[in-house]
Amino acid sequence: VEKIRAAEVEDRPLFSFEYFPPRTDEGVENLFERMERMVSYGPSFCDITWGAGGSTADLTLDISNRMQNMVCVETMMHLTCTNMPVEKIDHALDTIKANGIQNVLALRGDPPHGQDKFVQVAGGFACALDLVQHIRAKYGDYFGITVAGYPEAHPDMIQGEEGVSLEGYNNDLTYLKRKVDAGADLIVTQLFYDTDIFLKFVNDCRQIGISCPIVPGIMPINNYKGFVRMTGFCKTKIPDEVKAALEPIKDNEEAVKAYGIHLGTEMCRKILANGIKTLHLYTLNMEKSALAILMNLGLIDESKIPRSLPWRRPTNVFRV
Ligand code: FAD
Repeated sequence: VEKIRAAEVEDRPLFSFEYFPPRTDEGVENLFERMERMVSYGPSFCDITWGAGGSTADLTLDISNRMQNMVCVETMMHLTCTNMPVEKIDHALDTIKANGIQNVLALRGDPPHGQDKFVQVAGGFACALDLVQHIRAKYGDYFGITVAGYPEAHPDMIQGEEGVSLEGYNNDLTYLKRKVDAGADLIVTQLFYDTDIFLKFVNDCRQIGISCPIVPGIMPINNYKGFVRMTGFCKTKIPDEVKAALEPIKDNEEAVKAYGIHLGTEMCRKILANGIKTLHLYTLNMEKSALAILMNLGLIDESKIPRSLPWRRPTNVFRV
C-alpha cells in the first residue's frame, strides 16, 4: 500500500497481476515460467487466489512462498474464511509470515463447489470483517490487509430482476467502510466492464469517508464463453456497446481477444485519466492480453526487459 500511495502522490502508474493455482504439477511449472516473464515488466505486486472453501490451501501456500522467495516479487496471498476453522486460518497466516509475505487479501469466500450457501463453521468466521479484525488483533501491523470491493454491490444484494436497490448498494458500501475501519489498507474491486460504474463507486466510497487506495480489478476478455460464464457468475453489468461489439465476433477467438485488449486499454486509459494510478489485472494465468494492454498504455516496454533473464538465453544453456 505504501507503493500505491507513493504512486498516487508522484502521479506514476503502477500495475499488478493476479494468478490462480493450476490443477496439475505441469500447470504450476508453466505458470511460474509465465510469471517470471511477466514479473520482469515490474508489477508492484502479484497475488495468488485461495480456492473456494480452502480447496487449494496447501498449493496456494506453496505458490505464495515460491513467488515471494524465488520469483522475488512482492506477493499478496488471498485467504478466505469460509469453511475454515480459526486454527487453519492461523496456520496459513503463520506460514506466510514465516516465509516473509506481508500482504493478505482477506475474504469471506464463496461456498465450495456443490454447495449453494456459505456455512459458518463452529469457531470460524462469518464474514471478511471478522477476518480483518482477527488478523489485526493477532498479528498487529505485520500484514498489509486488502479487502474486496464491489462497484455494482455484492451479488448477495441483488434481488431478482430488480437488481440492487439503492439501500442494498448503500448497505454494501457501509459494510465496506467497516472492513476498512477495522484495519484494511487497500481495496481491490470485483471485475466490471462499465468504467463509469467503477468511477462512481470510488466517488461514493470517498463520500462516506473511505480514504484508502481503491484499485480496479480489470479482467481482459480472452474468450467469449469464459466471459459469459464469469460475468454471469459475478452478475456483472455488460454495457450495450460491449454486447454489440462482441455479438458478431463471438465465434472468432482471435477477434474476441483483440477486442478484449482494445476494451481493456480504453477502460484503463479512462481510469488513469481520472486519477487512479494502480491497475490490477486478473490474468487468468495468461500473459498476452494483460501485457498487450499495458504496452498500449505505454506502461511497459519490451526493450527494457533485462537481457540476462533465463528465457532470453539460448535453450542449450539449460542442457546438461
Ligand atoms: P464479505 O466482505 O464478508 O461480504 C460479502 C457481502 O456480504 C458484503 O458485500 C455485504 O453485502 C454482505 N455482508 C457480509 N457481512 C455483513 C455484515 N456483517 N453486515 C452487513 N453486510 C454484510 N473467492 C475465493 O474463494 N477465493 C479467492 O481467492 C477470491 N478472491 C477474490 C478477489 C477479489 C478482488 C474479489 C472481489 C473477490 C474474490 N473472491 C474470492 C470472491 C469472494 O470470496 C466472494 O465474492 C464472496 O462471496 C464474498 O467475499 P467478501 O470477502 O467480499 O465477503
